[in-house]
Amino acid sequence: MSTSLLYHGFGLVGCDYVHSRYQEGAIIFSVKRKRGKFRCSGCRSRDVILRGTLSRRFRMVPIGSKRVFLDYEVQRLECRRCGKIHQEKLGFVDPRFSYSHAFERYALELSRHMTILDVARHLGISWDAIKEIQKRDLTKRFSRPCLKSVKRIAIDEISARKGHCYLTVVLDMDTGAVIFVGDGKGGDALDPFWQRLRRAGARVKAVAMDMSPAYISAVLDHLPQATIVFDHFHVIKLSYEQVRNLPIVRKYEKLFNDLDLSHLPEFNYGVGPDGTSQHALPRAFIIRSLESLKTVSALIRFLQGNPALIYLCGFRNQRLPHDSQFYRFLEINGFQVYIETLGYPNP
Ligand SMILES: [Zn+2]
Repeated sequence: MSTSLLYHGFGLVGCDYVHSRYQEGAIIFSVKRKRGKFRCSGCRSRDVILRGTLSRRFRMVPIGSKRVFLDYEVQRLECRRCGKIHQEKLGFVDPRFSYSHAFERYALELSRHMTILDVARHLGISWDAIKEIQKRDLTKRFSRPCLKSVKRIAIDEISARKGHCYLTVVLDMDTGAVIFVGDGKGGDALDPFWQRLRRAGARVKAVAMDMSPAYISAVLDHLPQATIVFDHFHVIKLSYEQVRNLPIVRKYEKLFNDLDLSHLPEFNYGVGPDGTSQHALPRAFIIRSLESLKTVSALIRFLQGNPALIYLCGFRNQRLPHDSQFYRFLEINGFQVYIETLGYPNP
């Protein structure tokens, strides 16, 4: 194989082809590094001693349907200047993994057009390996978003693993991007975030968050000039605590507590523009029945007059979805007859 085929076909630079063989339908070839000076990957010094090699096999881009592997002797080096012992740097692969960069790019390109399972079968690797490649790609592209232009942020805690652990999440309110995820839900979960914010030189003007004292004091410490906005959902939750003694609220609170909706997936992503809770909708329909409201629009008016019930139904952000979501819910769940009696506008 010529040097230019090695480069254009497999992304190998500065290598000489040694030999290739065929084994169980796969092509295995080996190359060796052209003679040249190694550098220390830590201090860039050329004063390094060779400390033996490590045999590695890397997965390369396939040729047609044939799998291709590269056998390579990775040089171990010891730096005389800084004392670091390490492996030579390889341009075509991250030595921690066994797939070459070109192979990963190919797998990512394919997964834009096929399912993970299709790609895994086509490339002859496991589903998990494809998932791992995608994860690394996402981490590389999104783990360190630039914070310089961030102006408005929201801080919230989420529970993960069924409430066994908490994460603190920071969103850029202007782009909707998640810009930080910290462990735990205390103020110190945000420490690495403040550091990055300071280094980026960001000027944050406003912070939306819940009324957790830990977050409030963290923001007052680190962003004293920013305006704190208590977000709507959490404000309503607080006022809900005050209205929960109203008879109508107590009635539905008790009812919904006893209601088992576990057979129904709560979020039917892709249905509804913002992923309306498929648990909130049936609760709203129960209110419609018990309050003898005739139409969906009467139900919506009733809920708007009783915001605590909107909260109780479980509509996030206190916003009722468009009435089409109510009809669609009935449609999906096979209540066609019901829809007609509810005054569905005839198209
Ligand atoms: Zn060194």
